Amino acid sequence: MSDSATSQSNQPFLPFTRPSIDDATIAGVAEVLRSGWITSGPQVQAFEKALSEFFGGRPVRTFNSGTATLEIGLRLAGVQGGDEVITTSLSWVATANVILEVGATPVFVDVDPVTRNIDLDLLEKAITPKTRAIIPVYLAGLPVDMDRLYGIAHRHNLRVIEDAAQAMGSTWRGKRIGALGDLVSFSFHANKNLTSIEGGALVFNNEDEARLAEKYRLQGVTRTGFDGMDVDVLGGKFNLTDVAARVGLGQMPHLAAFNARRKELVRLYLDTLAGGPAVALGLGLPHADFTNSNWHMFQVELPLERLTITRAGVMEKLKARGIGSGVHYPAIHLFTMYRSLGFHEGQFPHTERLGRTLLTLPLFPAMTNADVARVCEAVNAICADHRK
Ligand SMILES: *Cc1c(COP(=O)(O)O)cnc(C)c1O
Repeated sequence: MSDSATSQSNQPFLPFTRPSIDDATIAGVAEVLRSGWITSGPQVQAFEKALSEFFGGRPVRTFNSGTATLEIGLRLAGVQGGDEVITTSLSWVATANVILEVGATPVFVDVDPVTRNIDLDLLEKAITPKTRAIIPVYLAGLPVDMDRLYGIAHRHNLRVIEDAAQAMGSTWRGKRIGALGDLVSFSFHANKNLTSIEGGALVFNNEDEARLAEKYRLQGVTRTGFDGMDVDVLGGKFNLTDVAARVGLGQMPHLAAFNARRKELVRLYLDTLAGGPAVALGLGLPHADFTNSNWHMFQVELPLERLTITRAGVMEKLKARGIGSGVHYPAIHLFTMYRSLGFHEGQFPHTERLGRTLLTLPLFPAMTNADVARVCEAVNAICADHRK
């Protein structure tokens, strides 16, 4: 069937992601709003307690974004001007922006083309006497080899601030990401596997780090007794509201089922795409990890060199069929601001190719099996109609 013949979809629009918020959570939010206390309070404490239990009892504090969480992680690790922080350029730009925010220098290394995560061999080669910390990114929720990562960190005495923004519920050797490691940063942005609308959480090694993070979170303030207040470090304004925390709390009991459903949908995607025209043309599929990944996204690599259509063109065709898609992510080092710091094309070939070709297809727990079939049919038709 030609793709123009079906360009007018009469099915409801399928976004690339959509949060699932249950009625109990909506009622809970209304209760918070009526309670007279709507910013950080009992709901934040309850959410932090639930998160700490989830992460094996490690101390946890929440923040108003995953970006704030990462930045506070860097500050806790003592990263400052003159320090180098190694990460990858295939991430949401927040990962690198926070390095600049604390005055340090981002050092990018290329990704492994299979996992699309930081190449650990290149990571070790990029370490210099100025290197202070590593920010590994778990793209689409797939963790890196944590044994190797922490082996490198310990050998070179480096702090690790894990950008686990996408990895809520992912595991390594049966343990949850966040339940092991150094500082571990999560995001609860609306698109993440667990959401508090906006928000984030940082997992610490000890209560001292958690207390310092509380100061960074709110103007450096420490309160004692009824009227005592002091400020001994510079802090900002990064606290989560009780309304947001109540949304996050309401998501917690569903996380395992959400992630299990994502996994089922991915299996269906892989089975349905296998042997089809898109794969025959070279459509690249994600690393099929059904043990550790929480499948935050389902991302394919478009075989653009064998197609007469651009990625934007594919997205437009999908949209005409009522299907949303996304780009996660253009290479950070090729953005104007990063080019002005000296980065350029040709430095990280796998990242650059993936930044040009990756397309995120719809994946969220409330999707139906028929939705997957519809997306696969569309991808196959568009590729077949535009083969060189
Ligand atoms: C979402 C995300 C962030 C930032 O989280 P926000 O809550 O949007 O500030 C950072 N890194 C990665 C990889 C992300 O996906």
